[in-house]
Amino acid sequence: MSAADLTVVRAGRLIDGSGDAPLADATVVVRGGRIESVLTGDAAARAIESATTVLDHRAHTVLPGLIDSHVHLNLAADATPAEQAVLEPAGALVAASASAASIALSGGITTVRDTGSYRDTAFDLRRAVERGWASGPRMLLCGPPVTITGGHCWFFGGEADGVDGVRRRVRELVKAGADWIKVMGTGGGTPNTRPWMPAYSQDELNAIVDEAHSRERKVTVHCLSSVAIGMAITAGADQIEHAGFAKDGRGASEFDEEMADRMARSGIYVSPTVSVRKFILDHLVDTGGPADAIAGWQRKFDNGMEQFRRLQLAGVNFVTGTDAGWHRTPFDGIAEEMALISECGPSAMDTILSATSRAADHHGLGDQTGRVRAGLSADLIAVDGDPLTDLRSLRNIRLVMSGGTLHTPAR
Ligand SMILES: [Zn+2]
Repeated sequence: MSAADLTVVRAGRLIDGSGDAPLADATVVVRGGRIESVLTGDAAARAIESATTVLDHRAHTVLPGLIDSHVHLNLAADATPAEQAVLEPAGALVAASASAASIALSGGITTVRDTGSYRDTAFDLRRAVERGWASGPRMLLCGPPVTITGGHCWFFGGEADGVDGVRRRVRELVKAGADWIKVMGTGGGTPNTRPWMPAYSQDELNAIVDEAHSRERKVTVHCLSSVAIGMAITAGADQIEHAGFAKDGRGASEFDEEMADRMARSGIYVSPTVSVRKFILDHLVDTGGPADAIAGWQRKFDNGMEQFRRLQLAGVNFVTGTDAGWHRTPFDGIAEEMALISECGPSAMDTILSATSRAADHHGLGDQTGRVRAGLSADLIAVDGDPLTDLRSLRNIRLVMSGGTLHTPAR
C-alpha cells in the first residue's frame, strides 16, 4: 500500500471512542496509515468512488482498536506457574511473546501495556516488531516489575530494596526502554509472598514514584491490600492493579469503604482484572474439576466482582486490563473482562471508553490512538453485533486494522 493509496472502511455503525452516540452508515477514510476523515452522506459516496480499496462493514460495528492495560506477553495462558514459565531460555520467551502479541492483535487489541516480563524479553520483541519480523499491537512496556527481594514475581528480574536501590532500578528500567514502572506493592500468587501485607516501606514507594515521575514515567502498583493501596496513593502513584482487600493468609478479605472513597477522591485509576478468576472457574467446570476447587474459585470470583461493584459505587476511575497470560486468561479475552466490568455497574459505553479513549489518554497516547478521529493512527476493528447491547459481541472480530495495515488472524 503506497502513501497515496486511499482505503475506506464502510461502517454500518461507528462507535468512535469519544463517548458520542454511534453514527450510522459512516465511512472512515484511511491514507498513509492514518485516519484522514470520517464521512457520511455525499462526501462519503465521493470518497468511496475514489478509493483504492473499499472494506465493506455495513453489516458490522466499527470501533477504535482496543487497549488492554494489563498483559504478560511472556506467559502462555496455559496455567503454567509464572515462576516455572520464566525458566525457558530468554529467546524462547521472546518467541512466546510474539505468539501472544499476534493473538492479542487478532482479538482486536491494537495496544497493550505489558505489566511484567522477564528481563529484556518484551523490549526485544518490540524491537523485532519495529523491524517487521513479527506482528503485534503497539506495546507499552514495564519490563520486570520492581519488587522486594523474594517479592511477588521476583523471578522476572526486578528485585530492588532500599531507597537508593529502588531509584537505581527505576533508572535502569528507563534506560532499557520502560514506558511505565510497575511495582509490586504487596505479595501475590508467588509462593512465600504475602498479599495482605505491604511489600515496600512508604519511603521506598515515595522514591520509586519520585524517580519515575522525574523521568516522565507513570507508576502502577499491584495492590491486594487496603493498607498498600493507601501507601500507593500517598506516594502519588498513577494506577492500582487489581485493588484487592486481603486481610490475612487464610484468604479472608474485607472491603474498606474509607479507602474506596480515598481512591475516588485521589482520581487514581484501577484495573480490576475481574476475569482472571472467571477463566480459571470456567476451565474447572469444563474439565469436570473437583467440586471444592470450583466452589473456592466461585467464591473468589464473586468476591472480586462485589469489590469492584463497590469501588464503582464509590466512583473510582478505571481502565480495562485483563492480566492476559496469567493462569488461563487468554490474550484475546478482553470482551469477557469488559462484559464482567459492565456487570459491576459501568454502562457498556463507559466500559468501551475504558478500553479505548480513556485508556489512550491515561497512557499518554490520546494523540495517537483510542478514537476514530482524523489525524490519529488507523487502529480500527469491526465486529458482528452491537457492543452497546452486548459487550461479548466484541469477540466477533471481522476486521483488525493497525496503523492502516490489515491483520490476518493468527488462528
Ligand atoms: Zn498481572
